[in-house]
Amino acid sequence: MSIRLDKVDYIYEPDTAFPVHALDHVSLTIRDGEFIGLMGHTGSGKSTLIQHLNGLVRPTSGTIYYNDRDIHGEGFSLKELRSKVGLVFQYPEHQLFEADVFSDVCFGPKNLGLEKEEIQRRARHALELVGMDESFYSLSPFELSGGQKRRVAIAGVLAMEPEVLILDEPTAGLDPMGRDEILEQVKRLHEENHITIILVSHSMEDMARYAGRLIVMDHGKVQFDGTPVEVFRHYKELEKMGLAAPQVTYLMHSLREKGWDVNVDAITVAQAKQEIMRVWKKH
Ligand code: ADP
Ligand code: MG
Repeated sequence: MSIRLDKVDYIYEPDTAFPVHALDHVSLTIRDGEFIGLMGHTGSGKSTLIQHLNGLVRPTSGTIYYNDRDIHGEGFSLKELRSKVGLVFQYPEHQLFEADVFSDVCFGPKNLGLEKEEIQRRARHALELVGMDESFYSLSPFELSGGQKRRVAIAGVLAMEPEVLILDEPTAGLDPMGRDEILEQVKRLHEENHITIILVSHSMEDMARYAGRLIVMDHGKVQFDGTPVEVFRHYKELEKMGLAAPQVTYLMHSLREKGWDVNVDAITVAQAKQEIMRVWKKH
């Protein structure tokens, strides 16, 4: 699996007095098995970008390739693409509309025209993947907690058995426990089910903990693309974009300024602790 964007531009309302250039010459490749964190200030183009990846939005110019085929080219099935590249929108619980949890998760595979048995097998498996057992199946989505609703919405996309799962700020508005549950589940989908993940998040701590690659958007452009360590080295430029590095990055830099010989590339609390202990013992 690979998705490649070649000089993709997107302009909202191009024929009006106020066109919005939401994507500006975006070129990048997403490869099998990656866990990508997509960051950027509000309005930087993250949601617009991810809606291009499953063909929901068509570029104003530029080309998108899925396994080297132009997704808007002749004979390419966008319907099939949408089952392979699953997109979980921001606040996906607003799209739960069936009477019960199980029917809701069946909706996607049903639309693929699968046999009833296969639809139900997939729905069960998807609910299992997000940690919801049979006691939830007949509940109305409205009886669930915020975190549970979101897990049902994610299961609805997983039931399509996608190769890539894109989540647009999946933890927004959840309490800390709900957040951790969702992220741990996403991590498991990546590690155990080998699903490629693209996670949009504002939390630098989450990015440092889970993502193997960070893509930073600013004004519709890709500004940084690299490992979390590489990207967080640019913490001063990130600040200028209204972003920041993880808290521990600041701690490590200030210890360094005070003469501690710590490696400033520690980006998680666990790494920082290990690094501080190492230097402490040397003294
Ligand atoms: P992000 O997800 O990073 O917050 P978006 O992709 O939603 O960014 O938005 C990128 C730019 O496009 C912003 O300037 C935003 O105001 C604009 N935009 C987003 N959706 C629309 C729309 N439906 N119509 C017009 N402009 C839009
Ligand atoms: Mg957005």
